[in-house]
Formats: sequence, C-alpha cells, structure tokens
Amino acid sequence: MRYPELSYWLSTVDEPLTPRPPLAGDTDADVVVVGAGYTGLWTAYYLAVADPTVRITVLEAQIAGYGASGRNGGWCSALFPTSLPALARRHGRDRALAMQRAMRETVHEVGRVVAAEGVGCDWRQGGTVVLARSEVQLDRARAEVAAARAHGLDPDDLVLLDAAEASARCAAEGVRGGTYTPHCAAVHPAKLVRGLARAVEARGVRIAERTPVTEIRAGAAVTPHGTVRAPVVVRATEGWTPGLPGHRRTIAPVYSLMVATAPLPDSTWDEIGLTGRETFSDHRHVIVYGQRTADGRLAFGGRGAPYHFGSRVSPAYDREPRVFAALRRTLGELFPVLGPDVPVTHRWGGPLGVARDWHASVGLDRASGLGWAGGYVGDGVGASNLAGRTLADLILGRDSDLTRLPWVGHRSPRWEPEPLRWLAVNAALRLMLAADRAELRTGRPSRRAATVSRLLNH
Ligand SMILES: Cc1cc2nc3c(=O)[nH]c(=O)nc-3n(C[C@H](O)[C@H](O)[C@H](O)COP(=O)(O)OP(=O)(O)OC[C@H]3O[C@@H](n4cnc5c(N)ncnc54)[C@H](O)[C@@H]3O)c2cc1C
Repeated sequence: MRYPELSYWLSTVDEPLTPRPPLAGDTDADVVVVGAGYTGLWTAYYLAVADPTVRITVLEAQIAGYGASGRNGGWCSALFPTSLPALARRHGRDRALAMQRAMRETVHEVGRVVAAEGVGCDWRQGGTVVLARSEVQLDRARAEVAAARAHGLDPDDLVLLDAAEASARCAAEGVRGGTYTPHCAAVHPAKLVRGLARAVEARGVRIAERTPVTEIRAGAAVTPHGTVRAPVVVRATEGWTPGLPGHRRTIAPVYSLMVATAPLPDSTWDEIGLTGRETFSDHRHVIVYGQRTADGRLAFGGRGAPYHFGSRVSPAYDREPRVFAALRRTLGELFPVLGPDVPVTHRWGGPLGVARDWHASVGLDRASGLGWAGGYVGDGVGASNLAGRTLADLILGRDSDLTRLPWVGHRSPRWEPEPLRWLAVNAALRLMLAADRAELRTGRPSRRAATVSRLLNH
C-alpha cells in the first residue's frame, strides 16, 4: 500500500509513513482501542493524560491516519450531524443546547492541545462562511439563522451576511449573501492525526499498525497476530465498522471525494479572499466544502459518490472520475478566476460513517466493557475529540458534564438489510442531486429535498 497516495494531506506530512511494528503475539492491557484515527487516538490521549498508569494498546489495520482522519476536508468545526431542532425534539432544548455548547468548546480544546503538544497542523481558526448563491439558498440561510435564534443561540454564533459581507470573505460568483460562524478552524488533517499518534506514543501508549482486528468481544480484540485481552475494548472504526462481525448494519459507509489545485498565485487569492483561511461551502443540498490550504491551494470536496452494495469499503471506491470532474466544474463555477488552466494536482476520497438516524454517538456498556464512538457523518474532526474526552471519563468511571451529554449511550437503529439499504441510500443521493439541479433551474425550493430528509430521518 502506498500510503502517501491516499490523499494530498498524507502526501505532505513531514515524516515517512513507515508502519509501526504489528502486534507481536497475545498480550494484556487495561484498555484496547481498535482504530488509529482521531477517535481512537483522542481516546488514548485523554486516558493517558488522566491516568498515566493505564496500559493502553491501539490496534490499527493499516497506519495511523489511514482512514477518514488522514483524508478529510480539514474543517475542525462545531457541527454535529443531527440538527439543533432535531436534537431538541429528541432530547429537549436544554440538552440540545448543551450538546452545541460542548461542540463549540471542542474547537478551542483541539486548538489548545495542538498548541500544547506541538502538533504542527496548520491550525487557523478563521470560522466558516456558507454562501448563498440563489434566492432559494438565501432563504435557507435566513431560516437557519432564525432557527438558531429561536433555540437561544448567541447572535455571534451564526451571523447572516449580506452580499457584500459574504463576498468580502469569499468572493465566489453570484454571491447574494450567506452565513458566518466563528466556530471552525482549518487544519491539515493528516498532520493532526499523525502528530496525535506521536503525542500518545510519547505518553506510553502502544500503537500496533498493520494489525487488523477480526473480532471484538467482551474482554478481547482478536487479530491474526495475537489477541489483546483487556477489560475495556473501544471500537473506533467508523466507515470500516461493517467489516466487523456483528456490525454489518451498525454504520453505513458513504464516500466523500476531494480535489486539490496547484498552489494559486497571490493575484488569484487577492480576488478570491479567504484571507482568514475561512472554511467555505454554500447552501446547496449535496454538501460541498473547501479550504484555502496553508500552502495556497484550494482543497475542495463533496459527496455524490455512490453507496456500495453490502456497505463494502474498498480502495477502488476512493476514486470516481465522474465526481472528480464534477468537483472541478463546481470549483470553476464558484471561482471563474481559476479559468480552465489551473491544474488539479490531487484527487482522493474515503468513507465516512452514517448511523441510520444520522445521530452520532459515544458510549460504554459497563457490563461487557465494550465502548464505541462514531457515526459523525462529515463532522468528525471536532466531534471525535469530544468523543475521546467522553470515553476517557466513562472508562475511568467519572460522572462529568461530558458523560451527561445527549449523544452518550444513544443507540441508533440498525440500517435496513440489503438490497433495501442500497436502494434507499442511492435513491436519496440521486434525489438530493436532482433537487439542487431543479432549484438552480426554477429558482424555487425543491420538494424533493424535504422528501429526502424524511426518508433519511434526518
Ligand atoms: C473526504 C472526506 C472529507 C471529510 N471532511 C470532513 C471535514 O472537513 N470536517 C469534519 O469534521 N469531518 C470530515 N470528514 C469526516 C471525518 O474525517 C471523520 O468523521 C473522522 O475522521 C472519523 O475519525 P475516526 O477516527 O472515527 O475514523 P477514521 O479516521 O476513519 O479511522 C478509523 C480507523 O480504524 C481503522 N480500522 C477499521 N477497521 C479496523 C479493524 N477491524 N482493525 C483495526 N483497525 C481498523 C482504519 O484503518 C482507520 O484508520 C470527512 C471525511 C471524508 C472521507
């Protein structure tokens, strides 16, 4: 496996991606973590900080950062996949607001730790601007701000922008307004995950790479190289979860794909803006997301790749020429200054994890000692840090503000068996794409989008 080819980010970390040694036979630990992405590593980090005597082993099928953590858009945001109104309906307004507050604090917490641990990951908290480029999108922006106010969010948490204000941050074509939140930092995601792996190792955590776990059961994680026996076993496998026995329908892997341009000249950046390295998107249905990288590229991604039958995950699915072409086209529509000549130098993708009710969760079953976190959809960069802190509290038996948050112990329903799952997820995707096209054509909001929301129980 040529790890640097997995993403632009993994190709630009300041270290060779030489795998650490695999597990060398049966062993014991106090906590074994399966998966060395942000979730597994943040869990190990906070456990090791809280109690350096806890013996922690992390088992990783490939290398730390092989998964979505080494490939994502680098938005360390306060976003949570379940919307605030949906959270309030399910858990009550106070608990929904507590969840949002915890997510906002999480952005600062990640910033604090990367500074304290010397994890150089091009951190810049410039916030997020979400553009409205049609009247329909502007209506959606207004509705989002109104809902935030109605639920008691501070005016500064989400600001409605007029056309001039939005363009001043991100001068895309046809901007009519937008929204801005300060609660997001742009990061180099692979530098973050690789730096985190080094930080946990320095605190005595053992990371065994190229060590796939074939079974998780109470008291043990089983691998071809041996079994780690531990009273606590944490599953942190996100998009790969369906490959574990008993978890075929726990999480659906959905692919998100990205492209990166060559570094752009200053003259181009003078026209585009993003001077605070604000992360950016627009108010369409099928999510697109971008950042201005520290070395002056546009890194830009979106969903739209198909879901694969049986929740299969494969390196072959990371690349979808049709989606890469659509992303380049969309970049050109947003920023005509790029012209046809600005080269795309990198193309990649990876699976993220979606729970059936779109509700991320974290938990520890005290009877079995089995813990888990995930289902973040496209919002795991921040949320995984909150999950790691929460799992550390749960494992150490600490009752805290974190362990009382509404996502703790939440059990999502299982996905439908195939072929229903395949039909539903791909139909939803197609409907969303069609809704965006229809809105562009007619200038009216699409009913299809509401149907999809209901379908997905989002
Ligand atoms: C293209 C893309 C763009 C994204 N953009 C953003 C963004 O901008 N902001 C945001 O917040 N989120 C984003 N996300 C989502 C975010 O990256 C994830 O939510 C987050 O990285 C999840 O971290 P994780 O540690 O839970 O999972 P992962 O990083 O996927 O890690 C899981 C790890 O477990 C390992 N593993 C799996 N099965 C086994 C096994 N059986 N045995 C041993 N090891 C195993 C895998 O090899 C992998 O290393 C994006 C995702 C993608 C794919």
